[in-house]
Amino acid sequence: MTGLSPSKIVCVGRNYADHAKELGNEVPREPLLFLKASSALIDSGEPIVLPPQSAQVEFEAEIGVVVGERMRRATPKEAEAGIKGFVCLNDVTARDLQKSDGQWTRAKGFDTFCPAGPRVAEGLRWQDLEVIGRVNGVERQRGKATDMVFSIPALLSYISGVMTLLPGDLVATGTPAGVGPLRPGDVVEVEVPGVGILRNPVRAFAP
Ligand code: ZN
Repeated sequence: MTGLSPSKIVCVGRNYADHAKELGNEVPREPLLFLKASSALIDSGEPIVLPPQSAQVEFEAEIGVVVGERMRRATPKEAEAGIKGFVCLNDVTARDLQKSDGQWTRAKGFDTFCPAGPRVAEGLRWQDLEVIGRVNGVERQRGKATDMVFSIPALLSYISGVMTLLPGDLVATGTPAGVGPLRPGDVVEVEVPGVGILRNPVRAFAP
């Protein structure tokens, strides 16, 4: 149980050069921000439900940052000091709708599309973090926080120049290469060593 109840979930697209490349995108010159609905949050162990509107739902293993202090136009140094802790996060995405809709609200916002957990780990250095994505026990993604295009303090600083970050807000810091589809019966894991393993089964939608 993470007990997370963020006022918003702020996400960053294309923050690892290898992932931007695999989807045919350029590395952005500034962080590419989007929001995920906070109603999409689920805990470790809860099922990701594949919605009937999409034929291509994909996992994205990410390092999640939990904000500890109100941040408004924070410097990277101030932002770093305002971090409460880290979680494993899965930025589940309906890839087909992400392309066809032209913006990402629906593709990223379905119920169950934001597994986060299994706990908020405090006292870790962001520079030491690494994220690993697995489907049915097979490793598909691996990336280090130090390989991000924009570092975690730089991201928080940038976001706080746009919208005030409040205690409990969640920031998803982007996914490394290796994203892929999820099918009913799969079990998807996001591990951040030192934080734990976020594990979610995948289910078909049943009305
Ligand atoms: Zn993502």
